[in-house]
Amino acid sequence: MRCPTSISNRRRVLCVFPTYTPSFGTFSHSYRLLPRVRAFMPPQGLLLIAAYLPPSWLVRFIDENITPATAGDFAWADFVFVSGMHIQAPQIHDIARRAKRAGKLIVLGGASVSGSPELYPEFDYLHIGEIGDGTDRLIAFLDQSVAPPQAQMRFETNERLPLCDFPPPAYDLIRLDHYLIGSLQFSSGCPYRCEFCDIPALYGRQPRLKRHEQITAELDEMLKQPGHPSVVYFVDDNFIGNRKAARELLPHLIDWQRRHDYPLQFACEATLNLAKQPEILSLMRRAQFLTVFVGIETPETDALKAMRKEHNSALPMMEAIKTLNSYGLEVTSGIILGLDTDTADTESRIKEFIDLSEIPILTINLLQALPRTPLWDRLKRAGRLIVNDQGLESNVRFLRSYDEVVATWRRCVAYAYDPERLFARFAHQIDATYAHRMNVPVRGKLTIRNLREAVVLGFNVLLWIGLLSNYRRSFWRAARRALKRGQIDAALGMGLVAYHLIRFSRDALRGDQNASFYSTRSRALTPPIGPQLEDATTLGQ
Ligand code: SF4
Repeated sequence: MRCPTSISNRRRVLCVFPTYTPSFGTFSHSYRLLPRVRAFMPPQGLLLIAAYLPPSWLVRFIDENITPATAGDFAWADFVFVSGMHIQAPQIHDIARRAKRAGKLIVLGGASVSGSPELYPEFDYLHIGEIGDGTDRLIAFLDQSVAPPQAQMRFETNERLPLCDFPPPAYDLIRLDHYLIGSLQFSSGCPYRCEFCDIPALYGRQPRLKRHEQITAELDEMLKQPGHPSVVYFVDDNFIGNRKAARELLPHLIDWQRRHDYPLQFACEATLNLAKQPEILSLMRRAQFLTVFVGIETPETDALKAMRKEHNSALPMMEAIKTLNSYGLEVTSGIILGLDTDTADTESRIKEFIDLSEIPILTINLLQALPRTPLWDRLKRAGRLIVNDQGLESNVRFLRSYDEVVATWRRCVAYAYDPERLFARFAHQIDATYAHRMNVPVRGKLTIRNLREAVVLGFNVLLWIGLLSNYRRSFWRAARRALKRGQIDAALGMGLVAYHLIRFSRDALRGDQNASFYSTRSRALTPPIGPQLEDATTLGQ
C-alpha cells in the first residue's frame, strides 16, 4: 500500500543510497568480469520508502554504488532522503554534506540511525525504526513545510506497517541489470538472541511476514526488466525464523519457478539448525535455492554458548553442513575473531574448521559491539568499549592483545584464501553439493541477453583467471573437474567468486583493506564521532 496520509502539495524527493565499504561479501572485484554489473544488491529499504511515498510526489533514485548524485540531482529536489547501515556511516555523512551545500533539507532513515540517532546531528529529520506511523507523520509534516526546522526533528515508528501491507520496492526507479544479485524480503525479525546481534532489538523476536502473493508479485516485477540478476537473495534475518511460514511459502516459489521455466536461483540466510528440517530442505532444493549463508561465527562450542548461539550446535556442525550440501545448498559462513573465549588454540581450530567444512566462502571478521545489543551493554559496563579511536580495527577492548587478535585474523585470511586451498574447497563442492542440485529446464534462462552475458563472463574468466592469473593451475584443477561433470555454470561461478576473494584478501593482507568492516582506521571518509558499526558477516546470520 501507499502512504494513507492525504496530501496537499507536490514534492520532489531525491533518494540517495550511500556506497558500501568494499568487503569480502560484496564481490566488488568481480563486477569487471560481467557486463553492466556495478553494484552488489538493490537497496530494499530505500526502494520500499520510495514506493510508499504519495503517488503525486516525484521521486528520483540514486544508488551511489552505481553513480554519484550530481549537483543537478540535488538542485532538483525539495528533500533528500538517505538510508544506510552502520558500515556506511562515513558515506552517509558525506551525502549530508553535499546536500547541505546545495541548500537541501535532509532526511535520514534506516538501520544505522535507528540504532544510533546521536551519530547524525547534521540531518534535519530523522526517521527512527521501521516503516509505519512515524513514516506517515514525517510525510504529513513534509507535505506542509519546506522550511528548515529550528532544531533536528525525530519521527519514530511506534506502530510498524505490517509486512503484508508493504508495497513492492520501487524497481521501476532502478535498473536491475546493474546489480550482481537481486534482493527480496519475506520476513523481518529473529527469535534468537545472539549476544552481538542487533536484529532482535531493531526488528523484534517474532518474525513478521509477507503474503506469498507479494513475493511472487515482486518476482514478476523483476522479470519485467529485460536484464535482471539470475540470483535473488532473501535478505530475511533468518529464513527459517518462522519455519511454518517458510514451509508454506516454498510450494508457491516452486510453482512460480515451474510456470516461468525456472528463470531464477535463490539464496538466503538461515541458522544452522536448518539441517534438522528435511521437509524445508527438500522444498528449497525444488525451488532452486543454491546457497545459504550461515553465521557459524566460531567452531568452538563454549564460545557459541557464551554468545548465546547454542542453536548452532543443535547438531554436530560438520554433520549439519554435510546435510545442507546434500540438498544442493552451498554453505557460506561468517567467522568472528576477538571473542572473549578465544585462546591460543582458536586459530588452529578455525583453520581446521575451514579444512573440514570445505566451505569456500567465509567472511572472517573481528568482533564489533553494535548499539542495542547485549554485547554493547556488557562491554560498556565493563569499560571495554573503545570510542572514537581512529587507529583501531574494532571498538572492543579484546581480552587478548589487540596485535595478536589482528595477527590471528591475518593468518586465518591468508590460510582461507590461499588459492590452492580455496579451489580445493570449490572442487569438493562439485560432488558434495552441486551434483545434488535439481536439473531444471534452461528455457527460462535462454535469452539472447543471457547468452551474450555468459559469453562475456566465459571470456573474462578464461582470460583473467584461466590465463593471466598466478593461480591459474589451481583454478584449472577445479574447473576441469566441474567441466567433466558438465557443470559449466559451476566452473564459471567459482572463477567469478574466487577472483574477488583472492584479490580482496591480498589487498587486506597488504593493509589496503581493513580487518573489520567496522574498522575505525582512517579512511577517505571518516565519521565525526563513534564507531562504525554493523557486521556484514552477521547481517542476519
Ligand atoms: S545472529 Fe542470526 S540467529 Fe542470532 S539473533 Fe541475529 S539474526 Fe538471529
